[in-house]
Amino acid sequence: MLRTHTCGELTLNNIQQTVTLSGWIQKIRHLGGMIFIDLRDRYGITQLAFNHEERPEICEKAEKLGREWVISVTGIVIERYSKNKNIPTGDIEIEVHELEILNEAEVPPFTIEDESDGGDELRMKYRYLDIRRNPVKNNLVFRHKLGLEIRKYLSNNGFLEIETPFLVNSTPEGARDFLVPSRMNPGEFYALPQSPQTLKQLLMIAGCDRYFQIVRCFRDEDLRADRQPEFTQIDCEMSFIEQEDILNLFEGLVQHIFKTFKNLEIGKLERLSWNDAMKYYGSDKPDVRFDMRFVELNDVLQHKDFKVFNEAELIVGIKAEGCGNYSRKQIDNITDFVKSPRVGAAGMVYILCNQDGSFKSSVDKFYSQDDLRKVAEKCEAKPGDMILILSGKKSTTRKQMCELRLEMGNRLELRKAGEYKALWIVDFPLLEWDEETQRFYAMHHPFTAPKPEHESWLESRPGDVLANAYDLVINGSEIGGGSIRIHRPELQKQMFKALNFSEEQAQNQFGFLINAFKFGAPPHGGIAFGFDRLCAVLCDSDSIRDFIAFPKNNAGRDTMLPAPTPIDNKQLEELNIKLNLQTENGK
Ligand code: ASP
Repeated sequence: MLRTHTCGELTLNNIQQTVTLSGWIQKIRHLGGMIFIDLRDRYGITQLAFNHEERPEICEKAEKLGREWVISVTGIVIERYSKNKNIPTGDIEIEVHELEILNEAEVPPFTIEDESDGGDELRMKYRYLDIRRNPVKNNLVFRHKLGLEIRKYLSNNGFLEIETPFLVNSTPEGARDFLVPSRMNPGEFYALPQSPQTLKQLLMIAGCDRYFQIVRCFRDEDLRADRQPEFTQIDCEMSFIEQEDILNLFEGLVQHIFKTFKNLEIGKLERLSWNDAMKYYGSDKPDVRFDMRFVELNDVLQHKDFKVFNEAELIVGIKAEGCGNYSRKQIDNITDFVKSPRVGAAGMVYILCNQDGSFKSSVDKFYSQDDLRKVAEKCEAKPGDMILILSGKKSTTRKQMCELRLEMGNRLELRKAGEYKALWIVDFPLLEWDEETQRFYAMHHPFTAPKPEHESWLESRPGDVLANAYDLVINGSEIGGGSIRIHRPELQKQMFKALNFSEEQAQNQFGFLINAFKFGAPPHGGIAFGFDRLCAVLCDSDSIRDFIAFPKNNAGRDTMLPAPTPIDNKQLEELNIKLNLQTENGK
């Protein structure tokens, strides 16, 4: 080995020991007749001391060294004069007797420090240098430990980790597939799995009983902020269980994770129906670290002279505690926010609850003090609070209010880092109507079971059918989702019918599963968690990229490799693929 110790472990206990360390040069300082070098490896930093008077030839060699060079040194551990209390090795340094240069290095394009001067693009292009930085490296260490703990928990609960293939069949029903041409079968394609959904169901039919896999999934979607075309799921499936069993078992996992990594007892998880989530938070992934629930105000604000409200399908308010003294400017600023293209509201109504019990609002012309008092009572607003009101079409107003609620949560610093609120969203609708294509889509996926008591509505009132489906939400992020599956072929057929699939289409796309159901499928269900996002939420980060060693940018590119790239004609010929790309000038 090219070292006896790592750069993170030597302390006063090792004084006078002869040691060999290897690593990268973080920093070089000249001080009188001495050269000090901070040597870094994955485990930490150790100070090296070169004494010119005592060992001039080594010092001369050290003069040549530069940042990020790779060296190996042998020397004696001695106590340091000026100690560094911030690092575990800060009490000692190595008096260097031998120096070997293992590799030279060019000056890195950005500083390898906790706070780097490199921008995002540059750091991604040289991600291997970025990973040398503590914040990124620590994230990868965290991810490893979290994965290990999850594997342990699931194994202890009888789950088998089973790998499923990456080259599978295309199922156009979900997101867009990434396709892989098959050279041996000209004109035919594999697809990369969007998730192992159908395969894990087949494993239940195979009798595996409890399956999990920490697995890469691929979705060719237009990249929204903080999405990756490939991401990792903790994918799970169980047989002979009901929804309650799954919620309990995975609640246990979530509690275990918080206890292990945050030393927090998060207790029993709150459950909220999808309907209530939409009604009170305008979102199926509410951040419930703070209250500020929506209050519907149609009954108190309609049938007066204010046309905007009279014509609205929904009038909804939130109470901003302690904001009753907001200035005109502050309110204008919030109004600008709701009118911004991102939120898209036409306007906002406010009511300030004055300390003397009176009210001042932007609609004083239309409403008496008594009217406003009724609103305040409904919102449980006290003197010193402010009520913000939006109105319009139900679904859009809820979306807009959701944005406003989160924005106010940010402004009032109610979304605190280090505070965690996890909850289950349950009772999702089974189907979702799409205006554009005039058909129903599965809200979760086509294998999700309706609630047994709603099965008979599949044909008569499909829009009202609720599903045995659930999501896990932490701090406003969707961390996981799953469902009890359909396991009877008849019901699966009915579901495809509700989704407007002809028998033939269903057979073509999912025949393998429908047929497997004929051979004794056990009742089963499961869940999948977004592993990258779980890491990010637990570390109070907004970005899953921080937890992926080699992520792609917003255009789906890996700028380091780089990928994607054009392919050689010869390779294309082998695959029997002819490109038909139009260049910009139409040639
Ligand atoms: N396969 C589903 C998904 O990727 C999760 C599940 O239902 O288990 O969303």
